[in-house]
Amino acid sequence: MTLSLVSHRPLHPVVMSLILALWLSTLGNAPLWLTLLGLPESHNPRAWLGIAGFGVVVLAFTVAFLCLVVWPWWRKPVGLVLLLVAAFNSYFMYTYGVVIDTSMLANAVQTDAREVRDLLSWSMLAAVMLGVGLPGWWWWKQPVQQTPARPLLARQIGLAVVATLVMLVMVWLSFQDLASTMRNHRSLRYMINPFNTVYATMRLVVGNTAHASQLVQPIGADATLLGSASDVDTSPLIVLVVGETARAANVGLAGYARDTTPRLKQLQDSGELVYFSKVTSCGTNTQVSLPCMFSDLGRDGYGKTEARFENLLDVLQRAGMAVLWLDNQSGCKGLCDRVPHADTRELKDPSLCPEGECFDEEMLRVLPEHLNQLEPVRRAHGTVVVMHQMGSHGPAYYKRTPPEFKVFTPECHSNVLQECSDQEIVNAYDNSVRYTDHFLGQTVAWLKSQKRPTALVYVSDHGESLGEKGLYLHGMPYAMAPKEQTSVPMAVWFSAPMLNHLGWDKSCWLGQASQPVTHDNLFSSMLSLAHVQTRLYKRQLDVFSACQPGQRKVQAITGLPSASEHAAKRLNTTVEADPKPSHG
Ligand SMILES: [Zn+2]
Repeated sequence: MTLSLVSHRPLHPVVMSLILALWLSTLGNAPLWLTLLGLPESHNPRAWLGIAGFGVVVLAFTVAFLCLVVWPWWRKPVGLVLLLVAAFNSYFMYTYGVVIDTSMLANAVQTDAREVRDLLSWSMLAAVMLGVGLPGWWWWKQPVQQTPARPLLARQIGLAVVATLVMLVMVWLSFQDLASTMRNHRSLRYMINPFNTVYATMRLVVGNTAHASQLVQPIGADATLLGSASDVDTSPLIVLVVGETARAANVGLAGYARDTTPRLKQLQDSGELVYFSKVTSCGTNTQVSLPCMFSDLGRDGYGKTEARFENLLDVLQRAGMAVLWLDNQSGCKGLCDRVPHADTRELKDPSLCPEGECFDEEMLRVLPEHLNQLEPVRRAHGTVVVMHQMGSHGPAYYKRTPPEFKVFTPECHSNVLQECSDQEIVNAYDNSVRYTDHFLGQTVAWLKSQKRPTALVYVSDHGESLGEKGLYLHGMPYAMAPKEQTSVPMAVWFSAPMLNHLGWDKSCWLGQASQPVTHDNLFSSMLSLAHVQTRLYKRQLDVFSACQPGQRKVQAITGLPSASEHAAKRLNTTVEADPKPSHG
């Protein structure tokens, strides 16, 4: 790049836009073209012709787009922004095999400074320098002709129309090949810079505006707690650990070749813990999965509504329970807004928080003091605690594990995964899973030491790609996401006092554990476990429904058949199998 690239003769604005369009649709879309050329069906002359045709379509569309958005008063900044978007997208698509859609963008917007730090690297800087520095410098420096407004308007609109026509003709000519390629490789449509981002931003802004303008609507106004209050020391305590980026494929209990879950295995062997082997997540990133898991609407319903509703935690609290959210990650995404919550990420505990970040065990360390601060009246009814893990958050997996838990070596010590061998990446990831196993084991040990009914439910928010099919990280659009990103671990542990408290048979859950389960099951299962009764409960989604004693037994326990009938009606279930036995 030399100074001679900048012409001293001012260029016409339309020529400027054409040059920018040429850059964006070729080098600015390098990952798209490389992916297309790498497809198995691209290895013949007809396919090359098809790709060339598609190239013309992208170029024509870019020209039309630039003619409509680039105007004199903001020409230079808007060009730089487009170059920046294309460069960042290209880097992430090329490096991690991700694509840019609304949920990926939403996740990126919600990313905090620490997560950004995990992504920064020299190769990212180099990519941005190449993609923005060189063309951006030219774009900024190049003098532009001063053109009267009217002729310029006419010319840009005219060119936009011509470019659109060219695009339509090319689409028509190459429709058959184009349509089949796009159908077979749907992720391609999210790879076209900068339109992937423009489209996702528009959808996000429209969605967020609609979302933010809504009040949070209450749910579960009828929620009540079955049974009477006991006291703070004997009431049940349920801990729900929301895992991060743990995928089922690398869990020892799920049959993974490596023993990544020795502590959980011990609990399973002693019959205290049950592992659910076919669990599917609601989304492929935290931003989608987390709110969806706690919603009563399930994956289908949650995805369809822009309205804001309360969640499981509000219902538990409304029923009278004490609720606490501890967060060691990027926050609760609004779920804990109305319940007591605390952030453990940046506590100054020298043993568990070296280098300014806390390992997940920090949540366990502060748990007792936070429990003591909850309202005693509520605690007497029982407590539900959510611990939101840092878990296996990537790409810096190695940061998630204290030194003494680095069992699998050598570890990848870079956040640019391509700089490591696949084995090093898997080693670092597996160590983080093993540390989660330790964290869960420690949590169970602490729960056991409490002289009250206790339970642990563990489920991860989504999985992770570790290089399979060239994909890394997570966040693929759900319909095309590989199972590594959607198949997650889930486990349930009950203390002996908890089994007594629930009145459940020890073996009742075994049948469910091998059945397909999704995040949709969490809401009703947690209600069931917490003995909270509401119309929102769906028996068919309760993984513990088989554990519920039948109507006969309920009557024997409570002696109040009418109450049970009433409860059954409200729960919209049959009287023969009342899912909500009274207790106490
Ligand atoms: Zn996540």
